[in-house]
Order: sequence, then structure tokens, then C-alpha cells
Amino acid sequence: MTGATLPGNVTPGMVCAHHHLYSTLARGMPAPPRQPTSFPEILELVWWRLDSALDLEMIRWSAMLGALEALACGTTAIVDHHESPQAIEGSLDVIAAACAEVGVRVVCAYGVTDRHGADGARRGLEENRRFLTAGGRGLVGIHAAFTCSDATLSAAAGLAEEFGVGVHIHVAEDAVDRDAPNRLRHLSDDRWVLAHGVHLAGDAGMRGTVVHNPRSNLNNAVGYARPARFANPVALGTDGIGADMLDEFRLAFVLDRSADVTAAPTRAWSWLEAGRRLVPDAAADRVTWSYPDMEPWHLAYTTGVHPLEIEVAGEIVWRDGAPTRVDAAEIRAKAAEQAIRLFGRL
Ligand SMILES: [Zn+2]
Repeated sequence: MTGATLPGNVTPGMVCAHHHLYSTLARGMPAPPRQPTSFPEILELVWWRLDSALDLEMIRWSAMLGALEALACGTTAIVDHHESPQAIEGSLDVIAAACAEVGVRVVCAYGVTDRHGADGARRGLEENRRFLTAGGRGLVGIHAAFTCSDATLSAAAGLAEEFGVGVHIHVAEDAVDRDAPNRLRHLSDDRWVLAHGVHLAGDAGMRGTVVHNPRSNLNNAVGYARPARFANPVALGTDGIGADMLDEFRLAFVLDRSADVTAAPTRAWSWLEAGRRLVPDAAADRVTWSYPDMEPWHLAYTTGVHPLEIEVAGEIVWRDGAPTRVDAAEIRAKAAEQAIRLFGRL
């Protein structure tokens, strides 16, 4: 990564290959009505209640805070997956604008699903179409095969094909979605972004980049994805738990190590670098770090490394511990206000 031409303390921008910026306000949210005891219950009792409560103003400040926190960790590009069933139209514009304001690259997608009936699926597809037609940088989102009919999966894949982009979808995150490859493999291509893949048997014939989200998978107790087994490209994501990619790399490394004590950190590092296949322009971004040796054997065992200066598309967007384009204190204050509104609805 550091390349022959970069000083030891400089890297290209980090990429979070699977994020949910809408979940940034979730921290500290009220407890669910009862304790979830499985992954489907975590979705039903936590995330599907949260996403249904979002309006565009909440989405805006959730994305602003998420983008700010990404930059604070040297992450200059986010591959986002969004759902807000009560505020679908225009939601991708709000996220794209928030990231642009902070100075972070984002690839947007609206997660289409049949959870809210045929009309909900139609409106989700339409938001992807509207955003892409207007020139937005995006993929076509699908929540997951297990919440979609075959007709919806085909329509979303067709829309992606029409715009020459991939599909961003959760695949086999939990055993409940084990059947996904049987319904998706004939639709998938190399541009697809396959989040999780924990319960895929090998690549299961699925084409695309598998995004490993080690912290999220541990948090949801869905199992270890063992990403080293995939022939597909593997990248790293956070699944909405911030965008600290050095931290996610460290976790990916020790999990790899837990399954194979001979595993070297160069493998998890290659997953981190693979995120730039999804957002190639992040390779031209420059992050100057607080640590002199930005290479995997050092960083696997060095915590607390942070950016001193960040240049995105030739512009300095982070300097002396603060963003240059926005006021961090204002973003935190506005996000806190929106979190109170959101929690009130829950
Ligand atoms: Zn996700």
C-alpha cells in the first residue's frame, strides 16, 4: 500500500466497502421491546424499527456524522447501503450531499426489499433509478434475497445491468439466508458487492467482491466468515459500526489468526486494500498518519494510529485533528438533536 513513491507515514485513502450511514445515530438508542435472541430478531427488533423511524433530516445528520467519523479515521471512501422505508424518495441524494460536504467519497445504494409490500419494493427500485439517472455515483441496492421475491431480485439486477453498475446486497450473513446463492448466482456478476458471505459454501458460484465485516459478525453472533477461503476478491467493511478501517483490519487479522496461527497480517491487509477496487479514485487520496511505518506487520500490533492530514481529490479535507470543510462541533450537536428526535419515535 505504501508503494515505492510514498513516505512510510503516508497511504492512499482507506475504503469502507460496506457501511450503513443511516445507523450512525443508533448508538444509545432505547432498548428493544424485548431481548433479541437470533439474527432475524435483531433485524426485526432493532434495525427494522430504526430504519422505519428515519426521516430525511435524521438521515442527513446521521450521514454527516458518519462521514466526519470516517474522515477522522483516514477513510476517504464509503460504499453505503441505505434503507429508510418511510423516507425513500431523495434519500440517496441526502447521503451523497452530506458526504460531499464533509469531503468523503460515497457510492450509494438503496436496499430494495419486499418487507413493505410490492409498493415498497417498487419505490426502492425507483430511488435507485432516480439517483443513477441523475448521475449519482451508486450501485443498485438489495436488502437480501430472504426478504425479496424472485421478481424483485430480477428487477434490481436488471436495473443494475441497465446502468452498467453492480448490485450491493447482503448475502448469507446468517443461516436464515443460506439459500441466497441458489436465487442469485445466475444474476450476479463481477461488479456485485456481496456483504458478509458468512454462510456461503465457498463462493457458491456467486460472482462479485465479498465484503468481510468482522466486528458486525461478532456482534450479531452469526459466525466467522473465514474469508481466506474465497476465490472472489475480499474487501473489508464495518456494516455501520463506524468506518475505522485500521481497526477493522486488526480485527480481521486476529480472526484470521484464530483459525490459522500461521496467518500473516499481509492477508487481512490485502482485503483492506481491495476496497480500492470498488472506489478506485481513493487510491489517489493521501493520508498522512501519526505513525511512521504504515505497513501490515506494524499496524497489526499498533493501536491508536490516526490521520494528521488528509487530501481527497487534491483538496486538504483534514488538518490538525479537524475537518477543513465543516465544523465538527456543529455536526455533533445537530446529530445529537436528531438522535433525540429519532429515539422519541422509538
Ligand atoms: Zn449491512
